Amino acid sequence: MERPDRLRSIVDRLKREGLFTDVQKATPASSADLRRVHHETYVDYFRNLGEGFLDPETAVHPNTFDIATLAVGAALQATRVAVRDNAPAIALVRPPGHHAGPDYGGGFCYLNNVGVSAADQASEGRRVAILDYDAHHGNGSRDIFAGSPDVLYLSTHQYGIFPGTGPAEDVGTGEGQGFTVNIPFGSGCGDASYLAAYDQLVEPIVEEFRPEVVVVSLGIDAHYRDPLTSLSLSSPGYVELMGRTASLAKRLCHDRFVVALEGGYHLEALAEVIAGVVGRFHGRSIELSLSDVLDADGRGLGAIEATKRAHRPFWNLR
Ligand SMILES: [Zn+2]
Repeated sequence: MERPDRLRSIVDRLKREGLFTDVQKATPASSADLRRVHHETYVDYFRNLGEGFLDPETAVHPNTFDIATLAVGAALQATRVAVRDNAPAIALVRPPGHHAGPDYGGGFCYLNNVGVSAADQASEGRRVAILDYDAHHGNGSRDIFAGSPDVLYLSTHQYGIFPGTGPAEDVGTGEGQGFTVNIPFGSGCGDASYLAAYDQLVEPIVEEFRPEVVVVSLGIDAHYRDPLTSLSLSSPGYVELMGRTASLAKRLCHDRFVVALEGGYHLEALAEVIAGVVGRFHGRSIELSLSDVLDADGRGLGAIEATKRAHRPFWNLR
């Protein structure tokens, strides 16, 4: 599932499209970086585990720690560059990170790449919006920022599958209430549902939140070809969703827009959606072949209504 071919297929496609440009090599995140979101005891446990498992799907080998810290470093670097240059950046990383919480990993995740990046920006006094379009709920990101009013965490996900968290009614805790937004789609939700969620929740909430950086946890596992979930976004649907999100970041925060790869397990879908997103950074449209629209009517409108009900006390929602 979560394997090196995922990144190979992305890089091959970007090269074929002439989009593998301005590439920077990452440096590993430091222990101080990791401590922004992870407990030291967890980091030490993971570093010293050798051979083992964080959960049955999340194996650890002696070099896993180094690779995971490199992924965190890449996301961190992409975010700092986007903020410095007022320009979008993408961190093509694996392993993914959004299931890793303060003191746990799981679901192919060890360290929270996007979480560390957002916490790093928040430590500089910047307001950060994390938009998690992976098909799974980012329970790790949610747990890290549930109590924080400075980091907005908004997730669209298939509800009821792994990790089981993310109902509409979970709005965060304490002074972070309202800053955790869950849109719990049922199986079959795709293009029309995601675009409706964007228009009715993502844009109005992010606009009112006024972020200084927007970070997207981009999983391509909501694609209709993905083997792990039963959501149904098409490649053009993904690119449209990301295009609208990028325009929002351009309008609200000087193009400080960061995309970090999370899941996505169908190699062709993964490669063409990422090529479409990177192409858009360059003002180019890429030919997308996985373009069946399986949700034209918006079967996720009920989930969107539930989220609006939960969040009307906090945001101006129609
Ligand atoms: Zn996922």
